[in-house]
Amino acid sequence: MGGKLGNFWTESTDGTGPAAIDSFTPILTKKNVLRLGSRWYATDQSILPQLPEEVSQDQALIEGAAQKIMINAYERNPIARKRCLAHYGHSCIVCSFNFEERYGVLGRDYIHVHHLVPIGSLKKEYIVDPIKDLVPVCPNCHAMIHRNGPAATLGIAELRNLLLGPIPESPKGPR
Ligand SMILES: [Zn+2]
Ligand SMILES: [Zn+2]
Repeated sequence: MGGKLGNFWTESTDGTGPAAIDSFTPILTKKNVLRLGSRWYATDQSILPQLPEEVSQDQALIEGAAQKIMINAYERNPIARKRCLAHYGHSCIVCSFNFEERYGVLGRDYIHVHHLVPIGSLKKEYIVDPIKDLVPVCPNCHAMIHRNGPAATLGIAELRNLLLGPIPESPKGPR
């Protein structure tokens, strides 16, 4: 009896020798990771849920029960953001800049949201508190807050002091 072989390419012309794969196209697919309880899942979702009420029925089914989720995307979470801004308004908490006041309708509702709690200090069961943990900041102030990386995130008061204090002298000194 004889089995049918698949289509393999061989290195020798007479059809003997080791089989070789003719071509191989590496494909990398970008996925986000979603943590449910103690497990991580790859997901195509671009905005990840952080609040328990955002856990969809499908996600809940994965683990059998809805669990708390921790992801370092609190600043982009639409529900957390909405609650934060409903409380604080849309002016930068550091410099008071308000996009609508300055740019009119174009700037309406535009503001970043900054997460005050250093990610490294978060407990496993952490759930973001949109009022205690989040504040509105303009993109300029937000950039300065994160300027020195995650290990040296500036506090709100710290940045406000820099902003309101005397303009720092040029590090190059007078010419
Ligand atoms: Zn600002
Ligand atoms: Zn931030």
